[in-house]
Amino acid sequence: MKAAFFKTGLNRLPFRAAAFVALVCVAILGMSGWGEWSARDASMQAAEVELVNLARSLTQHAEDSFDILDNSITGSVSRLETEGTDPDTLAKLRALLLLRKAASTRIHGIFVYDENGDWLTSSGPMGGNIGDRSYFQHHKQSPERDAFIGHPVKGKVDGEWITTVSRRFNHPDGSFAGVVIAAVSAGYFSEFYRQFNIGTDGAAALVSADGVVMARSPDDGSYVGRDVSGGSLFVGIRSQGSSGVHYFRSFLDGFQRLGAYQRSSRYPFVVVATRAQDEVLAPWRRAAIVRVLFVLSLVVLIAVMGFYLVRQLLQGQRMAAALAAKEESFRVLAEGSSDMVTRVGLDGQVQYASPSSVRIVGWAPDQLLGTSALARVNPEDLPRIEKLVAALKRGETEEARITYRTRHREKSEIWVESTLRITRNVSGRIDGAVVISRDMTQQKYMEDRLATLATEDSLTGLANRRRFDERLEQEWARAYRERTCLALLMIDLDHFKTYNDEYGHPAGDECLRVVTRIMAAEAQRAADVTARYGGEEFALLLPNTDAAACARIGERIRCAILKAGIPHALNQPSGVVTVSLGGAICQPAGERSATSASLIEAADQALYAAKDGGRNRLVMAAQAIRLVTSAVG
Ligand code: GH3
Ligand code: MG
Ligand code: MG
Repeated sequence: MKAAFFKTGLNRLPFRAAAFVALVCVAILGMSGWGEWSARDASMQAAEVELVNLARSLTQHAEDSFDILDNSITGSVSRLETEGTDPDTLAKLRALLLLRKAASTRIHGIFVYDENGDWLTSSGPMGGNIGDRSYFQHHKQSPERDAFIGHPVKGKVDGEWITTVSRRFNHPDGSFAGVVIAAVSAGYFSEFYRQFNIGTDGAAALVSADGVVMARSPDDGSYVGRDVSGGSLFVGIRSQGSSGVHYFRSFLDGFQRLGAYQRSSRYPFVVVATRAQDEVLAPWRRAAIVRVLFVLSLVVLIAVMGFYLVRQLLQGQRMAAALAAKEESFRVLAEGSSDMVTRVGLDGQVQYASPSSVRIVGWAPDQLLGTSALARVNPEDLPRIEKLVAALKRGETEEARITYRTRHREKSEIWVESTLRITRNVSGRIDGAVVISRDMTQQKYMEDRLATLATEDSLTGLANRRRFDERLEQEWARAYRERTCLALLMIDLDHFKTYNDEYGHPAGDECLRVVTRIMAAEAQRAADVTARYGGEEFALLLPNTDAAACARIGERIRCAILKAGIPHALNQPSGVVTVSLGGAICQPAGERSATSASLIEAADQALYAAKDGGRNRLVMAAQAIRLVTSAVG
C-alpha cells in the first residue's frame, strides 16, 4: 500500500508542480495580455469618442459657416431681382457687400455675375468671366433657387482655394439673370482646424459629399481640390450612416489611421477627423512596454524558481527511492537472517527487531518494540553488559561482543551471544546500536561439556590428572602466599590386578566407583581435591592441613573402605578391598627448596612404604623416610 502510494502519488508530484508553475506563468501572461489589450482598446475608444465629438463640432462649424455665407447672399439676390443690375444699383450693392464681408472673417468674398458669367460687382477687386465654373453652369441650367455649394476652386482673382455658396437671380420674366456667390477660403477652415490638438499626425478635413477635399489641416497645399472618393475611408463613409468611425490606411499620407466622420444633414459635405493609430497608441505602448517587461521578469523569476523547485523535488524523490531501496535490501538482510537483528536507541529501548526474535527469544518483534533491551538479561550478567554499553556510548570502541544469559518466553533461560555495533547519525553522533544476537545455549553446553571432559575422569567423575596438576599448582601458590601447610594423600588399591582377574574388569570398574564415593565423602572441604591419579591410584590434595590432620583423614578413608567390606578373596588377610595410603605435607613458604613435584614424590614414596609395610595402611612421609632408612640399614 505504502509502496504503491510512493510509486503513483509521489512520483507525479514534480510533474504536478511543473504543471502548476506553467499554469501560473500562463495565467499571469494571459491576464497581462488581456489587461494590455483592454488598455489598448480603451485608448482607441477614448480617441474614437474624442474624434467623433470633434467631427460633430466641426460639422456644426462648417454648417454655421455656410449659413453665414448663404445669409450674406440672400439679401443681394432679392435686391438684384427687384432693382435690376443697372450701375447705380450695383454700386450700392457693392457697398453693402463690402460691409458684409467686413462683418465676418469667414467670408472670403461676395461676387455677382451676370447671365454670361461676366463680373458685375463684388466685395473685392474686379473679377473675370466665370462662365466655365460648374456652379455657374448648375444655376444657368437649373431653375432651382436654393443655395448651391460648389466644388472648391482656385479663385480667379487671388488664386486662393475657395468654396462657394451661390444662388441664382432671375430677370422679372423668370429667366436666368446671373449668380451671387459667397466664397469661403480653404485657408479659413484649415486655420480653424489647426486650433484643435489632434496630435502631430492628426488631421481634420472638410470634404464634399462626392469626395473632393474642400479644406484640410494640416495643409501643404496639395490636398484641397483632390478627389478622395476612391479612398478606403470615403468608400467606408458612403456605405455607412451619417456618422461613424472608420479604420483605414490613408490614401493621402499612407498612415494607418482612425477616422471619425460626420455627414452634414443640411449641406453636401462631410467632416472627417483622423488620427494616426500609432500616435494614439504611443502613450499606451510606452506604459505597456514597461508593464509587460515587469510581468515578463516576474514570469521568468517564477519559471526559474519553479524549475529549481521541480529539480529539487525530483532529486528528493530519487534520493528517497534510493534510500527506500537501500532500506528494503537491509530489511531483507535483517529479516532473512537467522540471527536476531535489533536496533537499540540511546535510551536502551528496542526500536526494531527482526522476525527471527520469535525463534531466538520467543517474543515477536512487536512485543519487543519499546521495551528495554536489557529487561530480560540475567542480573548476574547485567553489570558486565552495562559496562560494555557505557564504553560503546563513550565511543571507546565501535564494536563489542558479549555472551550472557537471558530469559526466553517459553524456555527457562538461554545463552545469547550479541555483537553490538554503534550507529551514528548524519552529524556523526552516536545514536544507538545495531545488535545481532544468536542463541548460544547449545554451544555453551557443548563448551561446558568439553571443559568438563578435559578435566574430569569419565569413570569416577573425579578430577583427572590434568585437573589435579592445575589445582596442585594453584593450591601450592596459595599455601605459599598464606604460609599454610599443604597435605597430599596418594591412595592405591591393594592387589587390584588380582581383583580384576578374579571378578572381571567391569566389577573392577564398579569397585573403583564405590571407593571413589567413600573417599569423596571423607574429603568434605570445598578446597579439597580428589583426583584419579592413575589406574587404581588416587590423589587427595588437602589445603591448609597439617600432618596430623592429614594422617587422620587418611586413616578415616582406609577404615571406611575396609569397613565397606567389598569382597576381594585374593587380598589376604582381610579378604575385602583395602587401600594403602602415602601422606606428605609441605609448607611451601617455609621450605624454600620444596616444589609441588617433591610433595608428590614424598607422598609416592610414603605410599610405596605403606605397600612395603604390608598394605592396608597409611604411611606419612616422615615415617616413610624413616622406614626407607631402616630398610636400607
Ligand atoms: P599392589 O598395588 O597392591 O602392589 O598390587 P596391584 O595388583 O594393585 O598392582 P598394579 O598397580 O601393578 O596393578 C594395577 C592394576 O589395576 C592393573 C589393572 O588390572 C588394574 N586397573 C588399573 N586401572 C583399572 C581400571 O580402570 N579398571 C579396572 N577394572 N582395573 C584397573
Ligand atoms: Mg594397586
Ligand atoms: Mg597401582
